[in-house]
Amino acid sequence: AGYLSISALTKKYKNTPVAAVDRVSLKVDEGDFLALLGPSGCGKTTTLRMIAGLIEPTSGSIHVQGKDITKTPVHKRSIGMVFQNYALFPHLDVKSNVAYGLKMRHVPKTEIALRVQNVLDLVRLGHLADRRVTALSGGQQQRVALARAIVVNPQLFLMDEPLSNLDAKLRDAMRTEIRSIQRKMGITSVFVTHDQDEALTMADKIAVMSEGVLEQFGTPSDIFERP
Ligand code: ADP
Ligand code: ADP
Repeated sequence: AGYLSISALTKKYKNTPVAAVDRVSLKVDEGDFLALLGPSGCGKTTTLRMIAGLIEPTSGSIHVQGKDITKTPVHKRSIGMVFQNYALFPHLDVKSNVAYGLKMRHVPKTEIALRVQNVLDLVRLGHLADRRVTALSGGQQQRVALARAIVVNPQLFLMDEPLSNLDAKLRDAMRTEIRSIQRKMGITSVFVTHDQDEALTMADKIAVMSEGVLEQFGTPSDIFERP
C-alpha cells in the first residue's frame, strides 16, 4: 500500500501546451523522508501543492494511509507546510505564529500554551517565545516556520525549498536539525529541492523529476551509486 501513494498524478495548467506534472506515481512508507529533486521548472512545487491541496490535479490520485485525499479541501487535510519565504505573520510574536493553527482548530488555550512551548523547545526557540518574528534572524524565522507546521501533528510534513534563503553554513546545520526533528516525530515528509547534495544527505527516498516526468525513484544509493 504505502503511507503516501501518488498515482498517475498530472497537472496541466490552463493555456499551457504541456503538463507541468505528467503521470507521476510513487509510494513511500510511514515516517519516510521523501525528496522531490530536479531543476527549476521540472514540476516539484506543483507536485507538492497538489499534495497540500493548494491546487487541484488535472487527473490522478493521492492516497494517505489508504484514503484518497485528492478531493479533500485544503483545510480538511492533515498537513503542515513550510514555504521558501516562511510566510510568517510579521506583526505577531513567535508563540502566536506557532499557535495559529491550533487556534484555528479550536484547541483549548491551556493545551495550546503547552504544545507551543514543547515544539518551541524542540526547535530550540523556547527562550524567544515572546519576540516578534521580524526581530529574528533568518535561521530563527525558519525554525518558527518549522514549529508552526509540526505543532498540529499533521499526517504529512511538506517543505518547499525551506533552506534556500539561508547561508551555506546555516543550511548545513539545518539539514541535520530538520532530519532530527522529523525522525523524533516519525512524521512522513516531502521535501522539495534542486540541490542534489541536499537530497542525498537528507532523504530516505528520492524522486528525480525532469520536465514534469518522474525520471528515477529510489533510495539515495539506488540513485547515486549505480554500477
Ligand atoms: P519547480 O518547482 O520544479 O521549479 P513548478 O512546479 O513551479 O516547478 O513549475 C513546473 C512548470 O509549470 C513550469 O514550466 C512552470 O512555469 C509551470 N507553472 C507553474 N505554475 C504555473 C501556473 N500557475 N500557471 C502556468 N504554469 C505554471
Ligand atoms: P519556484 O520557486 O517554485 O520555481 P516560481 O518562481 O517558478 O517558483 O513561481 C512563482 C509563482 O509563479 C508560483 O506561484 C507559480 O505557480 C507561478 N508561476 C510559475 N510559472 C508560471 C507560469 N508559467 N505562468 C503562471 N504562473 C506561473
